[in-house]
Amino acid sequence: MTVYNFSAGPAVLPTPVLEQAQSEFTDYQGSGMSVMELSHRSSFFDAIIKDAKKRLRELMNIPDNYHILFLQGGASLQFSMVPLNLAQNKKALYVNTGSWSKKAIGAAKMLDNVAVEVIASSEEDNFTYIPDITPDMIDQDAAYLHITTNNTIVGTAFQTIPDAGKVPIVADMSSNILANDYNVEDFGIIYAGAQKNIGPAGLTVVIIRDDLLGLCEVNEPMLDYKIHTEANSLYNTPPTFAIYIAQLVFKWLQDLGGLPEILKQDQEKAQLLYDAIEKSSIFTSPVRQDSRSITNIPFVTGDEELDKKFNAEALAAGFENLKGHRSVGGMRASLYNAFPKEGVTALVAFMEKFEKENGG
Ligand code: PLP
Repeated sequence: MTVYNFSAGPAVLPTPVLEQAQSEFTDYQGSGMSVMELSHRSSFFDAIIKDAKKRLRELMNIPDNYHILFLQGGASLQFSMVPLNLAQNKKALYVNTGSWSKKAIGAAKMLDNVAVEVIASSEEDNFTYIPDITPDMIDQDAAYLHITTNNTIVGTAFQTIPDAGKVPIVADMSSNILANDYNVEDFGIIYAGAQKNIGPAGLTVVIIRDDLLGLCEVNEPMLDYKIHTEANSLYNTPPTFAIYIAQLVFKWLQDLGGLPEILKQDQEKAQLLYDAIEKSSIFTSPVRQDSRSITNIPFVTGDEELDKKFNAEALAAGFENLKGHRSVGGMRASLYNAFPKEGVTALVAFMEKFEKENGG
Protein backbone atom coordinates (compact mmCIF):
# COMPACT_ATOMS: atom_id res chain seq x y z
CA MET A 1 0.00 0.00 0.00
CA THR A 2 1.27 3.46 -0.86
CA VAL A 3 1.47 5.64 2.23
CA TYR A 4 1.00 9.40 1.99
CA ASN A 5 2.15 11.32 5.03
CA PHE A 6 0.07 14.45 5.67
CA SER A 7 1.82 15.19 8.98
CA ALA A 8 1.97 18.81 10.15
CA GLY A 9 5.42 18.14 11.56
CA PRO A 10 7.77 16.43 11.75
CA ALA A 11 6.85 16.13 8.11
CA VAL A 12 7.65 14.35 4.89
CA LEU A 13 11.17 14.84 3.48
CA PRO A 14 12.15 14.60 -0.19
CA THR A 15 12.89 10.97 -1.14
CA PRO A 16 16.10 11.86 -3.08
CA VAL A 17 17.40 13.57 0.07
CA LEU A 18 16.72 10.53 2.23
CA GLU A 19 18.32 8.29 -0.39
CA GLN A 20 21.45 10.39 -0.58
CA ALA A 21 21.71 10.48 3.21
CA GLN A 22 21.30 6.72 3.26
CA SER A 23 23.99 6.18 0.62
CA GLU A 24 26.57 8.16 2.63
CA PHE A 25 25.28 7.25 6.08
CA THR A 26 28.29 5.29 7.28
CA ASP A 27 30.96 6.90 5.11
CA TYR A 28 30.53 10.59 4.42
CA GLN A 29 32.36 11.47 1.20
CA GLY A 30 35.28 9.10 1.83
CA SER A 31 35.86 10.33 5.38
CA GLY A 32 35.29 6.84 6.73
CA MET A 33 32.89 8.40 9.24
CA SER A 34 29.17 9.07 9.43
CA VAL A 35 28.08 12.72 9.30
CA MET A 36 26.88 12.18 12.87
CA GLU A 37 30.42 11.26 13.90
CA LEU A 38 32.15 14.27 12.34
CA SER A 39 33.53 16.92 14.65
CA HIS A 40 31.56 20.14 14.25
CA ARG A 41 34.96 21.85 13.96
CA SER A 42 36.16 19.54 11.15
CA SER A 43 36.71 20.75 7.61
CA PHE A 44 34.01 18.30 6.46
CA PHE A 45 31.37 19.86 8.70
CA ASP A 46 32.63 23.38 8.05
CA ALA A 47 31.92 22.79 4.36
CA ILE A 48 28.43 21.46 5.14
CA ILE A 49 27.32 24.37 7.33
CA LYS A 50 28.80 27.01 5.01
CA ASP A 51 27.11 25.43 2.00
CA ALA A 52 23.78 25.13 3.83
CA LYS A 53 23.86 28.83 4.73
CA LYS A 54 24.90 29.85 1.23
CA ARG A 55 22.09 27.86 -0.35
CA LEU A 56 19.46 29.20 2.07
CA ARG A 57 20.69 32.74 1.37
CA GLU A 58 20.32 32.12 -2.37
CA LEU A 59 16.92 30.45 -2.07
CA MET A 60 15.36 33.21 0.04
CA ASN A 61 17.38 36.11 -1.44
CA ILE A 62 18.66 36.97 2.01
CA PRO A 63 20.58 40.28 1.84
CA ASP A 64 24.11 40.59 3.29
CA ASN A 65 22.93 42.60 6.30
CA TYR A 66 21.01 39.56 7.57
CA HIS A 67 22.66 36.68 9.45
CA ILE A 68 21.59 33.06 9.30
CA LEU A 69 21.73 31.17 12.60
CA PHE A 70 21.31 27.45 13.09
CA LEU A 71 20.12 27.04 16.67
CA GLN A 72 18.29 24.56 18.88
CA GLY A 73 15.32 24.75 21.23
CA GLY A 74 12.66 24.78 18.52
CA ALA A 75 10.55 27.71 17.42
CA SER A 76 9.23 27.62 20.98
CA LEU A 77 12.52 28.88 22.43
CA GLN A 78 12.30 31.81 20.02
CA PHE A 79 9.03 32.78 21.75
CA SER A 80 11.27 33.75 24.71
CA MET A 81 14.52 34.61 22.92
CA VAL A 82 12.90 37.30 20.79
CA PRO A 83 11.57 39.40 23.71
CA LEU A 84 14.68 38.71 25.81
CA ASN A 85 16.87 40.12 23.07
CA LEU A 86 14.71 42.93 21.77
CA ALA A 87 12.08 44.04 24.23
CA GLN A 88 13.59 44.49 27.70
CA ASN A 89 11.83 47.52 29.22
CA LYS A 90 10.01 48.07 25.96
CA LYS A 91 6.67 47.38 24.39
CA ALA A 92 6.25 44.32 22.15
CA LEU A 93 3.31 44.09 19.74
CA TYR A 94 1.64 40.82 18.77
CA VAL A 95 -1.02 39.65 16.33
CA ASN A 96 -2.94 36.71 17.74
CA THR A 97 -3.82 34.34 14.92
CA GLY A 98 -3.82 30.95 16.60
CA SER A 99 -2.39 28.58 19.20
CA TRP A 100 1.23 29.27 18.26
CA SER A 101 0.75 33.04 18.39
CA LYS A 102 -0.87 32.57 21.79
CA LYS A 103 2.11 30.60 23.00
CA ALA A 104 4.46 33.32 21.75
CA ILE A 105 2.35 35.96 23.53
CA GLY A 106 2.26 33.85 26.69
CA ALA A 107 6.04 33.41 26.73
CA ALA A 108 6.63 37.17 26.32
CA LYS A 109 4.12 37.94 29.08
CA MET A 110 6.07 35.75 31.48
CA LEU A 111 8.99 38.19 31.31
CA ASP A 112 8.91 40.90 33.95
CA ASN A 113 10.25 43.76 31.87
CA VAL A 114 8.31 43.33 28.64
CA ALA A 115 5.05 45.20 27.98
CA VAL A 116 3.05 42.95 25.68
CA GLU A 117 0.27 44.42 23.58
CA VAL A 118 -1.95 42.33 21.33
CA ILE A 119 -2.92 44.73 18.56
CA ALA A 120 -5.26 42.39 16.67
CA SER A 121 -6.77 38.96 17.10
CA SER A 122 -9.10 36.57 15.29
CA GLU A 123 -9.69 34.48 18.39
CA GLU A 124 -13.34 35.56 18.70
CA ASP A 125 -13.96 33.76 15.40
CA ASN A 126 -11.91 30.62 16.18
CA PHE A 127 -8.92 32.04 14.30
CA THR A 128 -10.59 31.43 10.93
CA TYR A 129 -9.12 34.55 9.33
CA ILE A 130 -6.09 36.86 9.38
CA PRO A 131 -6.99 40.28 10.81
CA ASP A 132 -6.17 43.44 8.84
CA ILE A 133 -3.16 45.29 10.19
CA THR A 134 -2.93 48.95 9.23
CA PRO A 135 0.01 51.30 9.93
CA ASP A 136 -2.03 53.39 12.40
CA MET A 137 -2.27 50.32 14.69
CA ILE A 138 1.49 50.20 15.19
CA ASP A 139 3.13 52.20 17.95
CA GLN A 140 6.37 53.35 16.34
CA ASP A 141 8.18 53.13 19.69
CA ALA A 142 7.55 49.40 19.99
CA ALA A 143 10.48 46.96 19.92
CA TYR A 144 8.85 44.77 17.29
CA LEU A 145 5.61 43.47 15.80
CA HIS A 146 5.31 39.67 16.02
CA ILE A 147 3.25 37.70 13.50
CA THR A 148 2.81 34.00 12.74
CA THR A 149 2.92 33.97 8.96
CA ASN A 150 1.28 30.55 8.62
CA ASN A 151 -0.97 29.11 11.28
CA THR A 152 -0.32 25.40 11.16
CA ILE A 153 -3.31 24.27 13.22
CA VAL A 154 -6.11 26.43 11.82
CA GLY A 155 -4.79 26.74 8.26
CA THR A 156 -4.56 30.49 7.76
CA ALA A 157 -1.66 32.48 6.30
CA PHE A 158 -0.71 36.11 5.82
CA GLN A 159 -1.11 36.78 2.10
CA THR A 160 0.79 40.06 2.43
CA ILE A 161 3.10 41.28 5.16
CA PRO A 162 1.81 44.35 7.05
CA ASP A 163 3.53 47.71 6.81
CA ALA A 164 4.93 48.36 10.30
CA GLY A 165 6.88 51.51 9.48
CA LYS A 166 10.22 51.47 11.28
CA VAL A 167 9.12 48.78 13.75
CA PRO A 168 10.81 45.49 12.83
CA ILE A 169 8.49 42.61 12.05
CA VAL A 170 9.39 39.36 13.77
CA ALA A 171 7.90 36.35 12.03
CA ASP A 172 7.32 32.83 13.22
CA MET A 173 7.62 31.27 9.76
CA SER A 174 7.84 27.68 11.01
CA SER A 175 5.20 26.25 8.72
CA ASN A 176 5.64 28.23 5.53
CA ILE A 177 9.32 29.09 5.30
CA LEU A 178 10.50 28.26 1.75
CA ALA A 179 6.86 28.09 0.64
CA ASN A 180 5.93 31.72 0.14
CA ASP A 181 6.84 34.79 -1.88
CA TYR A 182 7.53 37.09 1.07
CA ASN A 183 10.45 39.47 0.93
CA VAL A 184 13.09 38.94 3.65
CA GLU A 185 13.69 42.70 3.80
CA ASP A 186 10.18 43.17 5.18
CA PHE A 187 11.27 41.41 8.38
CA GLY A 188 13.67 42.09 11.23
CA ILE A 189 13.75 38.47 12.35
CA ILE A 190 12.42 35.30 10.74
CA TYR A 191 12.49 32.10 12.73
CA ALA A 192 11.36 28.56 11.99
CA GLY A 193 11.57 25.10 13.45
CA ALA A 194 13.11 22.95 10.72
CA GLN A 195 10.80 19.97 10.99
CA LYS A 196 8.31 20.99 8.29
CA ASN A 197 9.97 22.38 5.19
CA ILE A 198 13.66 22.18 6.04
CA GLY A 199 14.73 18.94 7.67
CA PRO A 200 14.61 16.89 10.85
CA ALA A 201 13.43 18.26 14.20
CA GLY A 202 16.20 19.62 16.40
CA LEU A 203 17.27 22.51 14.19
CA THR A 204 15.84 26.03 14.41
CA VAL A 205 16.66 28.53 11.69
CA VAL A 206 16.85 32.20 12.65
CA ILE A 207 17.40 34.97 10.10
CA ILE A 208 18.20 38.24 11.82
CA ARG A 209 18.96 41.74 10.60
CA ASP A 210 22.30 43.21 11.66
CA ASP A 211 20.94 46.14 13.66
CA LEU A 212 18.96 43.77 15.93
CA LEU A 213 22.10 42.14 17.30
CA GLY A 214 23.73 43.26 20.54
CA LEU A 215 20.51 44.35 22.19
CA CYS A 216 20.27 41.43 24.61
CA GLU A 217 20.40 42.62 28.20
CA VAL A 218 20.25 39.15 29.70
CA ASN A 219 23.52 37.59 30.75
CA GLU A 220 22.89 34.19 29.24
CA PRO A 221 25.13 33.47 26.26
CA MET A 222 22.94 30.72 24.81
CA LEU A 223 20.04 33.19 24.55
CA ASP A 224 22.01 36.00 22.90
CA TYR A 225 21.71 36.26 19.10
CA LYS A 226 24.97 38.24 18.92
CA ILE A 227 26.99 35.48 20.54
CA HIS A 228 25.62 32.85 18.16
CA THR A 229 26.23 35.16 15.20
CA GLU A 230 29.84 35.85 16.18
CA ALA A 231 30.43 32.12 16.68
CA ASN A 232 28.94 31.29 13.26
CA SER A 233 26.36 29.05 14.98
CA LEU A 234 29.18 27.04 16.57
CA TYR A 235 29.06 28.56 20.05
CA ASN A 236 28.17 25.07 21.23
CA THR A 237 27.74 21.77 19.37
CA PRO A 238 25.06 22.41 16.76
CA PRO A 239 22.60 19.75 15.54
CA THR A 240 25.06 18.55 12.92
CA PHE A 241 23.00 15.81 11.32
CA ALA A 242 19.94 18.05 11.00
CA ILE A 243 22.07 20.78 9.37
CA TYR A 244 23.44 18.23 6.91
CA ILE A 245 19.90 17.14 5.92
CA ALA A 246 18.88 20.80 5.63
CA GLN A 247 21.80 21.35 3.25
CA LEU A 248 20.55 18.48 1.08
CA VAL A 249 16.98 19.82 1.17
CA PHE A 250 18.21 23.28 0.10
CA LYS A 251 20.14 21.69 -2.78
CA TRP A 252 17.06 19.65 -3.75
CA LEU A 253 15.01 22.87 -3.85
CA GLN A 254 17.59 24.68 -5.94
CA ASP A 255 17.83 21.78 -8.39
CA LEU A 256 14.04 21.91 -8.77
CA GLY A 257 14.22 25.57 -9.76
CA GLY A 258 14.14 27.37 -6.41
CA LEU A 259 11.26 29.07 -4.65
CA PRO A 260 9.27 30.24 -7.70
CA GLU A 261 9.06 26.66 -8.96
CA ILE A 262 8.25 25.01 -5.61
CA LEU A 263 5.68 27.71 -4.89
CA LYS A 264 4.01 26.96 -8.22
CA GLN A 265 3.86 23.28 -7.29
CA ASP A 266 2.59 24.08 -3.78
CA GLN A 267 -0.15 26.31 -5.21
CA GLU A 268 -1.22 23.60 -7.67
CA LYS A 269 -1.40 21.00 -4.90
CA ALA A 270 -3.42 23.31 -2.66
CA GLN A 271 -5.76 24.29 -5.50
CA LEU A 272 -6.57 20.63 -6.21
CA LEU A 273 -7.66 20.11 -2.62
CA TYR A 274 -9.49 23.43 -2.23
CA ASP A 275 -11.37 22.79 -5.50
CA ALA A 276 -12.43 19.37 -4.21
CA ILE A 277 -13.61 20.91 -0.93
CA GLU A 278 -15.56 23.65 -2.77
CA LYS A 279 -17.20 21.09 -5.04
CA SER A 280 -18.08 18.72 -2.24
CA SER A 281 -21.51 18.49 -0.67
CA ILE A 282 -20.18 17.14 2.62
CA PHE A 283 -16.72 18.70 3.16
CA THR A 284 -16.20 22.39 3.87
CA SER A 285 -13.28 24.62 4.75
CA PRO A 286 -13.66 26.44 8.06
CA VAL A 287 -11.25 29.17 6.87
CA ARG A 288 -12.26 32.48 5.28
CA GLN A 289 -11.36 32.47 1.59
CA ASP A 290 -8.93 35.40 1.68
CA SER A 291 -6.91 33.95 4.57
CA ARG A 292 -6.36 30.38 3.41
CA SER A 293 -3.01 28.68 3.77
CA ILE A 294 -1.62 26.67 0.87
CA THR A 295 0.40 24.61 3.34
CA ASN A 296 -1.99 23.39 6.01
CA ILE A 297 -5.52 22.78 4.76
CA PRO A 298 -8.20 21.85 7.29
CA PHE A 299 -11.61 20.54 6.23
CA VAL A 300 -14.65 19.27 8.11
CA THR A 301 -17.98 17.56 7.51
CA GLY A 302 -19.66 19.40 10.36
CA ASP A 303 -20.53 16.05 11.94
CA GLU A 304 -17.99 14.74 14.43
CA GLU A 305 -19.00 11.11 13.92
CA LEU A 306 -18.61 11.42 10.15
CA ASP A 307 -15.20 13.09 10.59
CA LYS A 308 -14.19 10.18 12.81
CA LYS A 309 -15.35 7.65 10.21
CA PHE A 310 -13.50 9.49 7.46
CA ASN A 311 -10.31 9.63 9.50
CA ALA A 312 -10.47 5.91 10.33
CA GLU A 313 -11.11 4.88 6.73
CA ALA A 314 -8.48 7.28 5.38
CA LEU A 315 -5.89 5.90 7.76
CA ALA A 316 -6.72 2.33 6.74
CA ALA A 317 -6.25 3.38 3.10
CA GLY A 318 -2.72 4.73 3.73
CA PHE A 319 -3.45 8.43 4.33
CA GLU A 320 -1.36 9.03 7.44
CA ASN A 321 -1.75 11.93 9.87
CA LEU A 322 -4.84 13.46 8.28
CA LYS A 323 -6.65 13.87 11.57
CA GLY A 324 -7.03 17.55 12.52
CA HIS A 325 -5.18 18.95 15.50
CA ARG A 326 -6.69 17.84 18.80
CA SER A 327 -7.74 21.42 19.54
CA VAL A 328 -9.90 21.81 16.41
CA GLY A 329 -10.89 18.31 15.24
CA GLY A 330 -11.92 17.42 11.68
CA MET A 331 -9.23 16.79 9.11
CA ARG A 332 -6.09 18.65 8.08
CA ALA A 333 -3.86 17.97 5.09
CA SER A 334 -0.38 19.42 5.45
CA LEU A 335 1.10 19.85 1.99
CA TYR A 336 4.70 20.83 2.59
CA ASN A 337 7.20 21.16 -0.25
CA ALA A 338 8.19 17.49 -0.27
CA PHE A 339 4.60 16.23 -0.30
CA PRO A 340 3.89 14.68 -3.73
CA LYS A 341 1.08 15.91 -5.97
CA GLU A 342 -0.03 12.27 -6.48
CA GLY A 343 -0.85 12.20 -2.78
CA VAL A 344 -3.30 15.07 -3.21
CA THR A 345 -4.87 13.47 -6.28
CA ALA A 346 -5.27 10.22 -4.36
CA LEU A 347 -6.82 12.04 -1.39
CA VAL A 348 -9.29 13.88 -3.62
CA ALA A 349 -10.37 10.57 -5.23
CA PHE A 350 -10.75 9.05 -1.76
CA MET A 351 -12.87 12.00 -0.59
CA GLU A 352 -15.13 11.66 -3.64
CA LYS A 353 -15.58 7.95 -2.99
CA PHE A 354 -16.32 8.59 0.69
CA GLU A 355 -18.84 11.25 -0.24
CA LYS A 356 -20.74 8.89 -2.56
CA GLU A 357 -20.80 6.16 0.07
CA ASN A 358 -21.98 8.54 2.77
CA GLY A 359 -24.94 10.27 1.23
CA GLY A 360 -23.17 13.13 -0.54
N1 PLP B 1 5.17 27.86 15.50
C1 PLP B 1 4.45 27.22 14.56
C2 PLP B 1 3.72 28.04 13.54
C3 PLP B 1 4.39 25.83 14.57
O1 PLP B 1 3.67 25.19 13.64
C4 PLP B 1 5.08 25.10 15.54
C5 PLP B 1 5.06 23.63 15.58
O2 PLP B 1 4.31 22.94 14.94
C6 PLP B 1 5.80 25.81 16.51
C7 PLP B 1 5.84 27.18 16.46
C8 PLP B 1 6.56 25.11 17.60
O3 PLP B 1 7.73 24.66 17.06
P1 PLP B 1 8.77 23.78 17.91
O4 PLP B 1 8.11 22.48 18.16
O5 PLP B 1 9.95 23.71 16.97
O6 PLP B 1 9.08 24.51 19.16
